[in-house]
Amino acid sequence: MSLLDVNNLKVSFRQDGQVSAAVKGVSFIVDRGETVALVGESGSGKSVTALSTVSLLGDSAIVEGSVQYDGKEMIGASEDLLMDVRGNDISFIFQEPMTSLNPVFTVGDQIAEMITAHRDVKKDQAMKAAEDLLAKVGVPEPGQRVDQYPHEFSGGMRQRAMIAMAIANEPQLLIADEPTTALDVTIQAQVMEVMGEVRELTGAAMVLITHDLGLVAGAADRIQVMYAGRV
Ligand code: ADP
Ligand code: MG
Repeated sequence: MSLLDVNNLKVSFRQDGQVSAAVKGVSFIVDRGETVALVGESGSGKSVTALSTVSLLGDSAIVEGSVQYDGKEMIGASEDLLMDVRGNDISFIFQEPMTSLNPVFTVGDQIAEMITAHRDVKKDQAMKAAEDLLAKVGVPEPGQRVDQYPHEFSGGMRQRAMIAMAIANEPQLLIADEPTTALDVTIQAQVMEVMGEVRELTGAAMVLITHDLGLVAGAADRIQVMYAGRV
């Protein structure tokens, strides 16, 4: 059984009385520990495919087909099951860390919150874990950084913090949607390196989404190209 098995996934959106198709029958699998790249031009349906895996699309989306995570059907699954999978099994890394991080809490607090929300761990233990996670993703002086706010981090460091948050609960599958697109080219390479290290460290499978074929050339076991809602 594959870790993730997407079969004939179709997604349309209702908008102003019209229905438009964004994903038109996409199938692929991701095995344990494997990195699969979803590559394609902007608007080809990569993000919609990714968000469908744990039903993160809004009410305007009509989703058909099947997404099985570890043998469990995600399409039409109960909110309880979805919450459980989102918290513990599948983690996302998005393009824009500033919109995913809360400006009024320290980076450490936010990583710790991820941990305490899903595990029976005390706050001070979670803060220590947050510091260890920052070290793992190559944030220098994690003991000080853990008490800083997102605006005190550079773009590359924020994305590292997001990666730390994504691996906090030791997920089986990481879905990284354009994880380096918002970063300077020199920083992109560093963050890709961290992603590679994280893969080796955690053994997690990864779906790596990007419009940049060059970025995934050395980073993926398999590459699937999407165009106009199809693989
Ligand atoms: P990609 O990630 O490959 O750039 P997306 O998956 O974001 O592309 O989008 C695929 C198509 O679905 C696009 O035409 C986009 O405009 C449309 N789309 C995405 N999200 C929504 C939404 N919430 N409502 C309506 N249309 C959407
Ligand atoms: Mg996208």
